[in-house]
Amino acid sequence: MTTPKHVAVYYTGGTIGMQQTPAGLAPAANLASLAAPIFQEYSHQLQCDWFICEPLIDSSAITLDNWQTWLNWIDSKAADYDGLLILHGTDTMAYSANIIALARPQLSIPVILTGAMLPLAADNSDAPLNLHTALAAFSLSGFTQTAIAFNGQLWPAIGSSKISTERAEAFANPQFGTLAQWSATDGWFNTNLPVGTPPAAPVRYSISSSARIHCFTLTPGANLDMITASLTHNPPDGVVLQSYGNGNTPADAGFLAAIRHLDQQSIPVLNISQVLQGCTSAVYAQGHELRTAGIINGGRCNLETALAILTLAASNHWNKEQIENLLHQQHLL
Ligand code: ASP
Repeated sequence: MTTPKHVAVYYTGGTIGMQQTPAGLAPAANLASLAAPIFQEYSHQLQCDWFICEPLIDSSAITLDNWQTWLNWIDSKAADYDGLLILHGTDTMAYSANIIALARPQLSIPVILTGAMLPLAADNSDAPLNLHTALAAFSLSGFTQTAIAFNGQLWPAIGSSKISTERAEAFANPQFGTLAQWSATDGWFNTNLPVGTPPAAPVRYSISSSARIHCFTLTPGANLDMITASLTHNPPDGVVLQSYGNGNTPADAGFLAAIRHLDQQSIPVLNISQVLQGCTSAVYAQGHELRTAGIINGGRCNLETALAILTLAASNHWNKEQIENLLHQQHLL
């Protein structure tokens, strides 16, 4: 008989544990007892300890302080457990998964995030399948990544996005695809797990609650003026620019001057594509002026990954070269 693995479960809120209130769905504290029959099915393989976040939140209320609190929780549990399960609202789950993966890049245990589109107690809830997918992930041998388990799929944190508010298939990773798929009948299949690297010394990056990252999506029309005015008059600590296609923008003189000025002040501007499976690269002459104005090429970063990188960059005083090194390490360039 194999010894059960120890898993710490951190319930942060989200629809999975919500109840109806006069104002709409809101987090409730009794999820552990509702989920007990599902966890019981794994009792031979997993010993799970529950930790309840105070206060529970709808994840659309997330703050940078929440992230630092959750990283502190991870640090306090990582040495004593074989895996961590974070129950999280779906609205910002992909943002949290990205920040955890990048802020704690060398954990020697898996961190699995899951949640649900419908409360566990609701008819036809997707929560049981999501919990099964998450709990089964702890049996994947040698798996030590941060990942989202949802609807029978295991997604790598980096590059994942919420793609639906209507369907159980609510997450995807257009850049990196799925790590593995799970069903009650077949267990894990289509596995494409990274080859385990020996755990290196733990790396811990912090999150400053004062990190100010502004994200802009370029659209035809007056939006460019708004972006230029904001960059000029209200410079933040870092900018994510979701430009067109391969990273192209209008060659507008005022806009380019604002970008150059940010570069002179060592404020990173990470240029990413607004296309779901986009990659910024030097393809078009149209993007040449922006490329030479001092932006960082974000390559295959999606919004969630780009925001996480710049939040960590601002919090830990990374320079341009350190950001580019990280993009290479994460196969985003
Ligand atoms: N608003 C909810 C949340 O993110 C949505 C969900 O969990 O599905 O907490």
